[in-house]
Amino acid sequence: MNTTYDIVVIGAGIVGAAIARELSGHQLAVALLDARDDVGDGTSKANTAILHTGFDAKPGTLESAMVSRGYTLLSEYARHTGIPVEHTGAILVAWDDEQLDALPGLRDKAEANGYRHCEIIGAAEVYQQIPHLGDGALGGLTVPDESIICTWTVNLALATDAVNRGTTLLRGYRVETVDIGTEFTTLHTSAGPVTTRWVVNAAGLGADVIDARFGFDRFTVTPRRGELIVYDKLARALVDKIVLPVPTARGKGVLVSPTIYGNVMLGPTSEDLQDRTATATSEAGFEFLLDKGRRLMPELLDEEVTATYSGLRAAIDHGDYLIAADAPKRYLLLGGIRSTGLTAGMAIAEYTLGELRSAGLELVPGGELPDPPRMPNLGEAFTRPYQDAERIAADPAYGKIVCFCERVTAGELRDACRSTIPPADLDGLRRRTRVMNGRCQGFFCGAEVQAVVDTLSPVPVTVQPERIRQ
Ligand SMILES: Cc1cc2nc3c(=O)[nH]c(=O)nc-3n(C[C@H](O)[C@H](O)[C@H](O)COP(=O)(O)OP(=O)(O)OC[C@H]3O[C@@H](n4cnc5c(N)ncnc54)[C@H](O)[C@@H]3O)c2cc1C
Repeated sequence: MNTTYDIVVIGAGIVGAAIARELSGHQLAVALLDARDDVGDGTSKANTAILHTGFDAKPGTLESAMVSRGYTLLSEYARHTGIPVEHTGAILVAWDDEQLDALPGLRDKAEANGYRHCEIIGAAEVYQQIPHLGDGALGGLTVPDESIICTWTVNLALATDAVNRGTTLLRGYRVETVDIGTEFTTLHTSAGPVTTRWVVNAAGLGADVIDARFGFDRFTVTPRRGELIVYDKLARALVDKIVLPVPTARGKGVLVSPTIYGNVMLGPTSEDLQDRTATATSEAGFEFLLDKGRRLMPELLDEEVTATYSGLRAAIDHGDYLIAADAPKRYLLLGGIRSTGLTAGMAIAEYTLGELRSAGLELVPGGELPDPPRMPNLGEAFTRPYQDAERIAADPAYGKIVCFCERVTAGELRDACRSTIPPADLDGLRRRTRVMNGRCQGFFCGAEVQAVVDTLSPVPVTVQPERIRQ
């Protein structure tokens, strides 16, 4: 394998995958490298999966520009690739006079961010649109274009597209130390050295550590944990819009939202930690969310909980994204892409290429590109293979359900195992198919799923001891 590249992107989350995809449309030898055994196994797998309009971003920031542009780019890309998106819309609910008074300011802020579709509505209208909302709402602000999306498919589509365009994907390569030479930089990784002219640091929670290896001391990542509760699909009838709180300085607050898989979620919490691996959920987080949920939508608490999970935002001591190129070191940092990176990722990639070009990277278009990949549909609102008589007639494997909670078929498991980027374990298979993501969480179907993949898989597929569910 070629181990000398023109450019290496560290981190195969949504941001890194989007950047590798953009770069590989040019005459460059590109590698996308991640410490983990799969793409999208960091923060990009465990978020609230909302495609944000950016209505509440801080106007004038890079984040505001990236979220707004990212919304457009990702919506368009989703149409081409089949990434499921539901344009549910959102209502931001005011529960006291102070919050009610804040609504006009929030509408003005949305307009300053270029989003002009917010409307202030009275309590009666709020209850008409969200009939199961708890008592006491005084009014609301509509955000008709906020949408729900599948974060797993976004990451996988971008990474698959990058590989189809010629990117070399290196999984299981943890960057440990760095040697910067006059022409080449050597990344010493857990899987051996990788040599490259340029480096893009999209390492999320690990971005400050890599940045220090390049000789900088300019920011610290604080993992900000967000815990969420996922309710059963029977709860879906309670809410078909995203119910948002009035945001505070600490973030967007606790919301209730339908999920693209047909469930309802409550969360996230916001808790600063030291441990960058602390993705377990906690009793305190659960209690906090139940307390919020009791006020927001009491009937939701009568529903069964399917799963809980948490993700870590890469918060930094800087009020905006920190994207900076260093020409002498042929290096670019992406820091602090904390709570909007799913939406903004494709715009960040576009912006990054501009910064790299300004820093001296030659970007010569690479000619005709392959079509974007057509991704398997994981969205509950769209036709799934088990519902598609024609598809089943052509290939009976799509009629053989293996996971009954999520209606996942043997055909989908086979396709995932034979795809451009096959899963490295059952959790990766879950992110590609929804298998074991439902009520039983694999209790009923786990053994059969393992048996099916054992007959298919080109790589060893094993259950990880600690699964992070979404
Ligand atoms: C609770 C929560 C809710 C959120 N909700 C939303 C939302 O609704 N909408 C939205 O747009 N955004 C949301 N976000 C933000 C979004 O998930 C992130 O901004 C985005 O996933 C960041 O992607 P990334 O590629 O920067 O990071 P990651 O996905 O974390 O990828 C970084 C990668 O770098 C790798 N890495 C780290 N160190 C090294 C190393 N030394 N060597 C090699 N590889 C390394 C990691 O293994 C990881 O795979 C939310 C985040 C959280 C936590």
